[in-house]
Amino acid sequence: MAEQFDVVIIGGGPGGYNCAIRAAQLGLKTAIVEKRGRLGGTCLNVGCIPSKALLHASEAYEAAQHHFADMGIEVTGVSLNLTKMLAQKDDAVDGLTKGVEFLMKKNKITYLVGTGAIAGAGTVNVTAAEGTVSSLATKNIVIATGSDILSLPGVTIDEERIVSSTGALKLAAVPKKMIVIGGGYIGLEMGSVWRRLGAEVTVVEYLDRITPTMDGEVSTQFMRILKKQGLIFELGTKVTQVENTGSGVKVTVEPAKGGDAKVLEADVVLVSIGRKPYTDGLGLETVGIATDARGFIPSTHWATTAPGVYVIGDVTYGPMLAHKAEEEGAAVAEIMAGKSGHVNFDVIPGVVYTNPEVASVGKTEEELKAAGTPYKVGKFPFMANSRARTNHETDGFVKILEHAETRRILGVHMIGVGVGEMIGEACLAMEFGASAEDIARTCHAHPTMSEAMREAGKAVDGWVMQM
Ligand SMILES: Cc1cc2nc3c(=O)[nH]c(=O)nc-3n(C[C@H](O)[C@H](O)[C@H](O)COP(=O)(O)OP(=O)(O)OC[C@H]3O[C@@H](n4cnc5c(N)ncnc54)[C@H](O)[C@@H]3O)c2cc1C
Repeated sequence: MAEQFDVVIIGGGPGGYNCAIRAAQLGLKTAIVEKRGRLGGTCLNVGCIPSKALLHASEAYEAAQHHFADMGIEVTGVSLNLTKMLAQKDDAVDGLTKGVEFLMKKNKITYLVGTGAIAGAGTVNVTAAEGTVSSLATKNIVIATGSDILSLPGVTIDEERIVSSTGALKLAAVPKKMIVIGGGYIGLEMGSVWRRLGAEVTVVEYLDRITPTMDGEVSTQFMRILKKQGLIFELGTKVTQVENTGSGVKVTVEPAKGGDAKVLEADVVLVSIGRKPYTDGLGLETVGIATDARGFIPSTHWATTAPGVYVIGDVTYGPMLAHKAEEEGAAVAEIMAGKSGHVNFDVIPGVVYTNPEVASVGKTEEELKAAGTPYKVGKFPFMANSRARTNHETDGFVKILEHAETRRILGVHMIGVGVGEMIGEACLAMEFGASAEDIARTCHAHPTMSEAMREAGKAVDGWVMQM
């Protein structure tokens, strides 16, 4: 007889494994199925973690080469050991994926290595690598199968010359020239890594700005800084052909609004135009679930059209971010346990881990204008922040958007060194319905970058004190 569970989760990424932990904490008999052979999903294996490991290491390399001397640290003969840099990234991934496996054991969650497929209401079949199939009976199923790389029509990713983000995390050598197709978060992060390691990097973007969903003012300053660092941008530019010549890649581009084509050449091309939901072989048809035109599984409060089948993370609607998947995982576990799971989609932060970082939460100024929402702006530049000046890290600013009548903070957008660590304060303030004045009147430690947040709060009401 098939083993009986309260919940079987298909996919062991941040959505799936966090859902499993929360479900087990709430007393549900839980199983998680993962085909990769390692838990952690895209995020731990080929996403957030390895990219941040390379961003961190390449930033240190660049600092040793160009910035240590400014602080009186004389270093000579700085050289790159790429093999070792990639190995320390793999170590970080190994440690964290094993950590997730430990959490499964600790919470008495059954972890099955294999491909999960729904085989009708209340049944999940798991096919192991060697082909054996086991059947699980369950009250609830959670689909957490995530997303996969997306290529351009007619472009074959070989992960050597034409790479996705996965290939860009393990290039065997630093390319002389690299073209990044797509000026979004992932392309700019990986482009920054390889530029710091010595590549000439050109970013080709179809739209006339990078990071199009970001607050316009932040995005403009972000591009200015990236340009100063040496990234080359071809904006408003359409890629029409990508040809692997064996010894390099030729990328044909033309102005998005029409005009003459030209050919750009590179050693490596990174295709970074987004990701697509992943549902291959999932057996959705056995319970009558249909994906939408873009391949996402439609959901309402994570319930699919099939009773007892939920969906979370990248494979359903909302931003494709690890912490969004994690939030949804916990919320669905609480719903399945009879509680009222909830996610506040107005407060999902986003961070680009370049140097400086970009961090934002809530509405952008463009969104508020378009909605006709009355708002006030408070801004404070890091140039006037004592810690930033001391550290010679003065690029960027904090911007707070507040509702002009209710006084609630509607959005916070920042660019500056380490602002990814500061955005949590903005999230907390927004969760508590705070005003900019609440931040302004909260004592912040001196000297810290976070004082810029406090000053931006004061700026909303016109009483900035440090400038
Ligand atoms: C290069 C890169 C950098 C990123 N950086 C960040 C970042 O800094 N911050 C951030 O928040 N997000 C980042 N992301 C996005 C983040 O990785 C995803 O949003 C997140 O992993 C989504 O989690 P998930 O649980 O929905 O799916 P995934 O993490 O994709 O996990 C799904 C898992 O399901 C498994 N699976 C699929 N089908 C089956 C099946 N039938 N049976 C069994 N297992 C199956 C897959 O093998 C996979 O392991 C990055 C992504 C990339 C590619």
